[in-house]
Amino acid sequence: MVVIERGHDFFLDAIGAGEREQLNQVRLTFVNRESQSRGTTSEEVCRSLIDRVKLSLERRPSEIRKTCLQKLREVLYLLELEIALSHGRTSVPYLLSEIENVEPCCACGHLICVCAAASGSKRRSYKETALTEREPGIRSEAG
Ligand SMILES: [Zn+2]
Repeated sequence: MVVIERGHDFFLDAIGAGEREQLNQVRLTFVNRESQSRGTTSEEVCRSLIDRVKLSLERRPSEIRKTCLQKLREVLYLLELEIALSHGRTSVPYLLSEIENVEPCCACGHLICVCAAASGSKRRSYKETALTEREPGIRSEAG
């Protein structure tokens, strides 16, 4: 791993098939709300790791992988709880066993919507945003 910007931007080592000349790294960039630069969140990376461990569990079940899945869900929960507490909430009202399936807000990226708390606006999901902003005639079924 190479740190490009501490806490925000990284090159991660990549392995697997590919051209020998290709750079063997992938870039991971986190949102920087202070500089307003675009990127993902720690929570979103947790969701991707959870998905990866769930797939590996399907292929090769093991108690160690089950524990990894549980720990990753706990990390996701705690990251969300930290944000919730900092916005005056007292809990994250989702089951730990399903927390990765709850769709985060498209604007703030959190399960307990920080932007709605700040502005009073309705929380929008990624799916809602994708449907309404890409093709205005299509409405979300979740509506
Ligand atoms: Zn939000």
